[in-house]
Amino acid sequence: AAKGQGRNNYQIYDVSPEQEQQNAALKRSLRHAEGNGELRVFYQPQVNADSEDIVGMEALVRWEHPELGAIGPGFFIPLAEETGLIVSIGEWVLRTACQQARVWEDRHGLRLRLGVNLSVVQLTQPDLVGVVERVLQETGLDPTLLELEVTESISIKAVPHLMENLHGLHRLGCRIAIDDFGTGAASLDYLRKLPADRIKIDQSFVRNIGVDPDDEAIVRATIDMAHRLNREVVAEGVEIEQHLQFLRQNGCDELQGYLFCRPLPQASFDRLLAERESL
Ligand code: C2E
Ligand code: CA
Ligand code: CA
Ligand code: CA
Repeated sequence: AAKGQGRNNYQIYDVSPEQEQQNAALKRSLRHAEGNGELRVFYQPQVNADSEDIVGMEALVRWEHPELGAIGPGFFIPLAEETGLIVSIGEWVLRTACQQARVWEDRHGLRLRLGVNLSVVQLTQPDLVGVVERVLQETGLDPTLLELEVTESISIKAVPHLMENLHGLHRLGCRIAIDDFGTGAASLDYLRKLPADRIKIDQSFVRNIGVDPDDEAIVRATIDMAHRLNREVVAEGVEIEQHLQFLRQNGCDELQGYLFCRPLPQASFDRLLAERESL
């Protein structure tokens, strides 16, 4: 299935009994993944569109299953959401990434913004703001460096506590980004109602730069609209030079994608920062 298809949406197809059984087994082993040290956080740089300097990074979770090998988050995050395990996994990712961001700040003297994905399930938790506040206190990360990414595929009304949580996170000083912008049914509603600082243009639009003039027009109009509303714009899935040129010419603020760097394990990201520092 295409990425982003099943998550937080109603499944329009039936899952086969075999698949169902396999998912149940995976859900059981997911319960121990965190405790067994099978989870990792990878980091993908975000660069300034003009200078191409690294200005931030997105934390992306990975699961190294002892028998099955690497399982992608597109597959196991939905299972974690169904079981509720995403609450503790999400907190683990947040703490790990905030700690790491502090280490890099000290080691390389860089104040990089850290993007962390929040699941819709986390956003329904009445104590979410308290959890984030505690993690920030424990790790000592400056709250203004933390950006929480909220995917657009959810309906605002369907998520209890969503607005309180987002306003609470804002009050802590954190930034909010609307992820996968343009893919949901309610993009404009999101833009109007959520206290968002940034939007992330979904890679399905970026991919069609140079291919589909309609998608190019949507990208342009999105950047313009976001700027008029005082929101910054990040484009994701920037893979080729043509994407970069188009986005830069149209005033996109930051870029993320394979053209610059894939998501890297912590040690490799650390080496990347050390190289940049010595330039
Ligand atoms: P996302 O938040 O939209 O993350 C961007 C995805 O695009 C990542 O996939 C990243 O590896 C991939 N990507 C980055 N640059 C490019 C590019 O140039 N081309 C292409 N084709 N892909 C690119 P990944 O790491 O497999 O994550 C998939 C999704 O899983 C994420 O989509 C996010 O929704 C979810 N996810 C990942 N980590 C977490 C997490 O810690 N918590 C939660 N709740 N969800 C997470
Ligand atoms: Ca994201
Ligand atoms: Ca995204
Ligand atoms: Ca996406």
